[in-house]
Amino acid sequence: MKAIAAELAYFFRGQARKNIKLLTLYCSFLAGLVIMYAWLFRVLMWELEGREYSFITGIYWTITAMSTLGYGDITFSSDPGFLFSAIVTLSGVVFMLILLPFGMISLFLAPWIEQRLRYRATLELPEDTAGHVLIFGFDSVTRALSRNLQNRHIPFVIVSPSHDQAVRLEEEGFRVVFGTPTDAKSLRGARVENARHIIANLSDPENTNLCLTAHAMCTTPIATLVSEPDNRDLLRLAGADQAIPLKRILGHYLASRATTRGAQAHIIDSFGALQIAEIPVQATPFSGQSLSDAKIRQSTGLAVIGLWERGHFTTPHADTHLSPKALMVLAGTREQLQALEQITGEEEAEDRILILGHGRIGCAAAGFLEQRAVPFILIDREANVDCLDHVAVIGDATSSKVLNDSGIESAKGLIVTTNDDSTNIFLTLASRHINPDIRIVARANQEENVDQLYAAGADFVVSNASVGANILSNILEGKESIFLTEGINVFRRSLPPTLVGKSINDSRIRPLSGCSIVALERADGQPPLVVPPPETILEQGMGLILIGNPEQEKTFSRTFRDRRH
Ligand code: AMP
Ligand code: ZN
Repeated sequence: MKAIAAELAYFFRGQARKNIKLLTLYCSFLAGLVIMYAWLFRVLMWELEGREYSFITGIYWTITAMSTLGYGDITFSSDPGFLFSAIVTLSGVVFMLILLPFGMISLFLAPWIEQRLRYRATLELPEDTAGHVLIFGFDSVTRALSRNLQNRHIPFVIVSPSHDQAVRLEEEGFRVVFGTPTDAKSLRGARVENARHIIANLSDPENTNLCLTAHAMCTTPIATLVSEPDNRDLLRLAGADQAIPLKRILGHYLASRATTRGAQAHIIDSFGALQIAEIPVQATPFSGQSLSDAKIRQSTGLAVIGLWERGHFTTPHADTHLSPKALMVLAGTREQLQALEQITGEEEAEDRILILGHGRIGCAAAGFLEQRAVPFILIDREANVDCLDHVAVIGDATSSKVLNDSGIESAKGLIVTTNDDSTNIFLTLASRHINPDIRIVARANQEENVDQLYAAGADFVVSNASVGANILSNILEGKESIFLTEGINVFRRSLPPTLVGKSINDSRIRPLSGCSIVALERADGQPPLVVPPPETILEQGMGLILIGNPEQEKTFSRTFRDRRH
C-alpha cells in the first residue's frame, strides 16, 4: 500500500504536476469536441434523415466513430452524413488515438520510468565487487576522504541508511548502497567480506554495533572515528582495528600550533628513521635570519623543507628570510631534532593562550597545554558538563567585553574553536584587530571557510574535515602519505623505473610535477639522504619521499606512472 502511495505521490510533484494540468486541459478539449459532435449528429440526423436520437445516443455514436469502433448500428444514409462521419472518425484518429497516447507516454510514462530507473537505490553490489573501501556515515570528513580516494584511484562505496541521501549521493556520481549499517544483510549486499577496509563514521554506539556485526562476518580491517576518547577500548573490543579520537587529535594539533613556549619540535610523522617535524620559527634562535645565516643544517643536520606563513607554503632557498610568524617544516632523524631542541630548548618564552570554545576540541587543546604547563584561559557560552578538569569563563566570546576582560590584548596565542565558522571568522578578525601580534590558530568546521579564516587574520587554520580525511587516508594507504597541513602532503613513492640512473636535476621531477624531493630512502638500509643535492644519482630500489600539494601529487603519479610499492 505504502509503495503504491509512494508511486502515486510522484504524479503530484514538480514537473509531473504541471503535466497533469496539461492533460486535464487536453481532456476538457476532447470532451468539448465529443459534445459538439454529439450535438451536430442529432441536428444532422434530424435535418438529413428525419430521424430523432437522444443526446446520449449522440455521445455513444461520436465515441464509437472517433475510436474507430464503428459498430454500424446507427449510420447515416446520405452523402453529407457520410462526410460528417468521416470527419468525426478522422479527428478521432488524430486527437484520441495519436495525440492522447503520445501525450500520455511522453509526459507521464517515460519520465516515470526514467525516474524509477534513476531513483532506485542500490541494495546490493555485484557479487564480484572487491577491493573497495566501505564508508559508513557521510559527513564533511568522509566527503573530504572521498576526494582523497578519488585522487588516488581507490574505489569506495558509501553505505547510507537514508533513501533520500542514497539517491542524492548517487546523483552526485558516488557508488552507494542503501541499507542499515548494522544489519548483516546490508553488509553482505555491500560485499563487506571482499572490501579492502571499512571506515565507520557514525555515533560511538552505532560504530560499536557495526564493528561487532562486521567483525563476526569477515576479517576486513575496520577504522573507526571515536567522539569520546574513553570509548576507544570498547570499539577495539568490538573489533575495530583503529579507533581514532578525531576531536582530541584536533584539539592537540590546534594547541601545539598555538603555543610558542620552548622549541619542542612537533613531529608530524615518520618514514622509517626519517622524521618530519614542525616548529614555530619564533621559538627558535633563528628568527629573523636568512636560511643560510641560520646554518641549521650545519649545526643539526636537519633540512628545512618548507615554511608556512598564513596559509602559504614555500620551499625555502638559501636567502629565504625566516619570519618569526612562520612555521618551519624540518626533515631529519630523531637525534638531529633533539640536537635542535638542545640549541633552542632552554629559553622558555612567557606564554598565555586564550581558548575560545570549551567543547570537545577546546577541552582537548586545554589538556595539551596543561600538560606542558602553558597557562590558558577557556571561554565558552555554556559550561562543559563532560569536563571536570577545567574551569571556563562563561560568556559569549563575540562580546568585546568578554574578550577584553580575558586579556586578549596581552595574550600570546589564541585558539578559536567554536562549532560555528561565522563565529570563528568574526572572532579571528576581532582578535587580530585588538592584538596584531597574537598567534591565532583557528578551526574550520567546513573546508570552504579555510580561506576566509586566513583572510580574517589567522596564522594557522586547521579544518576538521581535512585532518580527519588525511588521518583516514593514511590508514588506508599504510601511511604512504602523511598529513602535514592544509593542502600539503608528504608522500612516499618507489623510484619510477624510467628515472633510474638519472640525477635529480635530470629527472625533472620538480619542473614536471611541482613536487620536491624531501629525502631518498636507500635500499641497503643506510640512513635516508635528506634533501639530497641536485646532482645526486637516483639508484634502483630507492624510495622517494616527496612534498607537494594534492594536485602536484596527482601530477607526479600521472607523469611518472609510478607503482605505489
Ligand atoms: P565542539 O564542537 O564540541 O568543540 O563545541 C564547540 C563549543 O563552542 C561549544 O561548547 C559551544 O558552546 C561553543 N561556542 C559556540 N559559539 C560560541 C560563542 N559565541 N562564544 C563562546 N563559545 C561558543
Ligand atoms: Zn575541559
